[in-house]
Amino acid sequence: MEVHAVLSPRRKGGPVFLAYCDECDRQMLLPASHIRTLHNLAPGVIAVEMTCYEGHVILVLSGSDVDIPGPAAV
Ligand SMILES: [Zn+2]
Repeated sequence: MEVHAVLSPRRKGGPVFLAYCDECDRQMLLPASHIRTLHNLAPGVIAVEMTCYEGHVILVLSGSDVDIPGPAAV
């Protein structure tokens, strides 16, 4: 699966992920309830499979070692 988004867990009111949906062509903040699955790719790197508000599947990479340039990297 192609990586569409990069991480950004935030701590206000629970973890929120900044994700970029290719289908919607926009960034959005998704709460943890939008997580479908979690995969440990490597130590410190977690792939989070989420769905956007339209139901599209987005793969978000999270973790301390993630450094991937992409639309969500500000
Ligand atoms: Zn979408």
